[in-house]
Order: sequence, then structure tokens, then C-alpha cells
Amino acid sequence: MSSKTAGREEAMQIPGDTPLKVVRDTPMSRYTTWRIGGPADYLIRAGTTDELVAAVRWGAGEGLPIYVIGGGSNLLVGDRGIRGLVITARTPGERAEHLLTAEDGGDSVLVSVAAQAPLSWTGRYCSERGWAGMDWGVGLPGAIGGATVNNAGAHGTEQKDHLHSVTLLGHDGAIEIKDAAWVDSRYRMTRLKEMPHPRPWTVLGVQLALPKGDPEELRRQADAHAEYRKATQPTGRCAGSTFTNPPGDFAGRLLEAAGLKDFAVGGVRFSSIHSNFIVNDGTATAADVRELIALARERIRAEFGIDLHPEIEEIGER
Ligand SMILES: Cc1cc2nc3c(=O)[nH]c(=O)nc-3n(C[C@H](O)[C@H](O)[C@H](O)COP(=O)(O)OP(=O)(O)OC[C@H]3O[C@@H](n4cnc5c(N)ncnc54)[C@H](O)[C@@H]3O)c2cc1C
Repeated sequence: MSSKTAGREEAMQIPGDTPLKVVRDTPMSRYTTWRIGGPADYLIRAGTTDELVAAVRWGAGEGLPIYVIGGGSNLLVGDRGIRGLVITARTPGERAEHLLTAEDGGDSVLVSVAAQAPLSWTGRYCSERGWAGMDWGVGLPGAIGGATVNNAGAHGTEQKDHLHSVTLLGHDGAIEIKDAAWVDSRYRMTRLKEMPHPRPWTVLGVQLALPKGDPEELRRQADAHAEYRKATQPTGRCAGSTFTNPPGDFAGRLLEAAGLKDFAVGGVRFSSIHSNFIVNDGTATAADVRELIALARERIRAEFGIDLHPEIEEIGER
């Protein structure tokens, strides 16, 4: 780094002629939907594949631990922040069109989409063109890379259902294409998510095999999903479902039955609209979230003998 001035954005040239800004000591609360998280030592916003590759190569060259995130919508970042480099791989929908290409295969389409493309935008874009299978993503926050790592899903469909392959950049510099079987996606879990942070690879993009369908019908479905979401989930500072559903039951139902709906600790509470969502009132710390999670797990174990597992991931220092 040319300067060690904390909290100031400074432009620096990344080797490879890709102009990227490295930001020092920026609060991760700006990059998570929970709006929680202490400062990252270094942060680079990588909106394109070239920028993502350049950012990873720079971080690896500097010997920094590398944390690649998308929309930060499934993440709890510790109050003391992140020692190392955070790379945000996300792009707003208005600038995402160049991140997606499609190859016609007769009755199906092979769509290649960069990790930064918003999941919701991808769902809408594909549905409007009559490419079926991604309408479930409309209305969900986050980017394609994060959706693939988490095997996100909704309305009976998951990212794995149409995943053909994943393009990975190893932090040793090698680019590899892995097929969907290698990713080993399960309910909100993948081989990628299982690996501890900081991980030795970055998702550059994915290939999706989408059957052709009726654009009108797909558009209608996408609209219905978005409407359902608005009606049943809280808006604001949250990270979606806190816990995965245990087999044959729903975490939200158990939390409600245990009297935890609307239950608060510090600046967080289980939502009155959806009991499995923890909402930040604007003053919360990561410690508050952890405390509420621990309390809920303890109570559900005591009352129902069930061990709830967090769906959200925790990174950074406590
Ligand atoms: C209001 C709300 C509703 C939600 N509803 C749902 C739902 O219905 N279903 C559901 O499944 N989820 C839901 N979620 C959770 C979340 O939105 C999804 O899981 C989403 O797909 C995560 O994507 P992200 O880009 O935000 O990932 P992040 O939270 O940024 O990251 C998730 C993981 O992926 C890794 N990662 C991200 N991008 C890359 C990359 N390019 N390379 C390597 N690693 C990467 C991160 O390191 C982290 O391990 C909801 C969240 C909110 C806030």
C-alpha cells in the first residue's frame, strides 16, 4: 500500500492494468444486509470478472487472507472486523447485462453468468426470455456466487437444480471448471460452504442448464414469488433465515412455539412477521446476534430435544 491512512479511500493500480480501489479499514456493516460488522483491513469492490481476478491476484501477491463475499445477505461479520482483504463480488442489476451470455441448445439454454450478477436480476432476466428454472430467485437478495456457495433456494427449487458447472479461481492463480456433482449441493450446504474461511478459491461464475418454457407463465410466476416474499418476510436489516429447518419441521414454527417470536436481545429480535428472521433495530452488534442465536438453540434443545443449525455464516473477529 502506498499509504496507511485508515478510513480513507485511495486509488491504487492493481497489477494487470485493472484500475481498482483498495479501501482501508472500512466498516463491514456497509456490506452486509444485517448492517453489522467491524472494519475490514482492506476491501476491493470487484464488479466484473477481470476486476475479481485482479483483486484476488493482488491479495494473494500481498500474502493477505482473502474473503470473497457477494451481497452479504447470509453473513454475520464479527464486531472486530476482518484481518485481511475482503472482495465484494456484486454488481447492481442495471449494470449486469454484460455478465450473462446464453448458448441455445434447442429445447434448453446454457446460460453463463458471472458471480457478481444479482440472483434476483438473473431470475427476472431468464424468466422474461422463457428460460425456465431461475424464477425462484426473483426477490431474493445477494449475487449468483453467494447463491451457489449457499445453494440458496425458494418455492421448491434450489440453485443446484439447474447448476451445470462452476468456474473457480484458485488463489494459487489456476482457473478450473468443476461440474455440478463436484459442488455436492445439499439443503443450504455445498462443498464450497463447508470449507473454513479464508478459502483458497473464488467463484468467478456459473453455468446454468435451463429448459425453455413459456415467458408469460414464467413472468407471472416470478411476480407471484416476489409478491409472496413481500407479504411474508420483514424488510430492513436482516439476513433471511437464521437456522435451517430440521427434518420434517420448520425452525420458525419451533421458535414461535418456544415463545421466541418478537423476543429481543440488545439491538436484535426475532421478527414478528417471520420468527426465523433476526432483525437489527439499527443499534445491534454481532455479539447481540450470537447471544440471541445461542439462547434460541438452548431453548429449542431443552423444549423439543432438537438441535437447530445456523444457516447464516459467521466470519471475522469477535
Ligand atoms: C430478506 C432475505 C430473504 C432471504 N431469503 C432467502 C431464501 O428464501 N432462500 C435462501 O436460500 N436464502 C435466502 N436468504 C439468504 C441469502 O440471501 C441467500 O442465501 C443468498 O443467495 C446469499 O447470497 P450473497 O451474495 O448475499 O452471499 P454472501 O452472504 O455474501 O456470502 C455467502 C457465502 O458465499 C461466499 N461467496 C459469495 N460470493 C462468492 C464468490 N464469488 N466466490 C467465493 N465465495 C463467495 C461467501 O464467502 C459466503 O461464504 C435471504 C436473505 C435475506 C436478507
